[in-house]
Amino acid sequence: MPIAALSDLADASQCPLLVIKVGSALLVGHDGVRRGWLAGLVEEIAEARGRGQQVIVVSSGAIALGAATLGLDKGGRGSLADAQAAAAVGQIALSGLWTELLGSHGLTAAQMLLTLEDLEDRRRYLNVTATITRLLDAGAVPVINENDSVATNEIRFGDNDRLAARVAQAAKASAVLLLSDIDGLYDRHPREEGARMIPVVEGVTAEVKAMASAESNSGMGSGGMVSKLQAAEIAELAGICLVIGNGQHDRPVARIAGEGIGTVFLPRRNAGARKAWLGGRLRLKGSLVVDAGAAAALARGSSLLAKGITEVEGVFERGDPVAIADNAGQVIAHGLSEYDAAECAAITGLHSSEQASVLGYAPRSAVVHRDQMVLK
Ligand code: GLU
Repeated sequence: MPIAALSDLADASQCPLLVIKVGSALLVGHDGVRRGWLAGLVEEIAEARGRGQQVIVVSSGAIALGAATLGLDKGGRGSLADAQAAAAVGQIALSGLWTELLGSHGLTAAQMLLTLEDLEDRRRYLNVTATITRLLDAGAVPVINENDSVATNEIRFGDNDRLAARVAQAAKASAVLLLSDIDGLYDRHPREEGARMIPVVEGVTAEVKAMASAESNSGMGSGGMVSKLQAAEIAELAGICLVIGNGQHDRPVARIAGEGIGTVFLPRRNAGARKAWLGGRLRLKGSLVVDAGAAAALARGSSLLAKGITEVEGVFERGDPVAIADNAGQVIAHGLSEYDAAECAAITGLHSSEQASVLGYAPRSAVVHRDQMVLK
């Protein structure tokens, strides 16, 4: 049974594995680490473990903490070099803190620092799954962050919201709880008059996206509502429930699950493990632009044929993940291409019967087969 209500977050049978993402502003205040608050959260993690739930922590805060120690301005986010240096300093303190506080409840913290590529590359993704699974089996609490000291702008998540959703997918978690500095998703900017919190979202539609404001409230983390909605999209495709809740209170999990304050994004469908990984990929090797007829056919569950392609972008090999976009540039699917980019370009717009003479061999049944495709 997928999770249907916030109270399920504290129910071991509904939610055997919970990913809790802790934002920078919750962990680090103006006077440094918010130790008392964190001790309260760790107590809740210990209680969840006592109820028979497994917990994975995705902890931000390395950059904010390191910036304070090094005296870097803009919270260490003034430049990539600053962020990398700040993270290197802050991460040691952060993992020490988790080790100590979890240890005070007899729990073992296990640090994993991941880069985007660790989750984008299929083999490395499966490797992450194996490590997390082994750690959980051994009774540890994985504490995960992005490896910010080596991540560069092109190859980083940059926010731990999407990292948390990808980790949840890799770990086959039941739910992701994004602890933030806001109660949930509001239908307009929360400071605007009449703003109303949305308790349940079924599908991150264009209308839902329009509610998000790009600005992060604290200025400390880098998430904001936009990245939280992207995380929700990754989770819903993987059949995982995602919750945005306010972490600013003492015992935040009890408030969210017990009092039911937060926004729950219900899983829309379970695409299957491999398709969920493909659909959640953030970087693709290229894209295939398709005409309206092909876009409609894909929506009905068909494979993508060369006839419907109008443009090929990027450099990719056979088997590489590509985006499929409509003629307005909207990405409508991710899929694995049966041809490399040059072959795709050569057969673009051609019927199957016309392809053999161009390719020099009998064409495959499709450019992207429906079994290797996931609609967005
Ligand atoms: N990984 C970053 C850090 O540890 C946080 C990213 C975010 O703000 O979501 O500081």
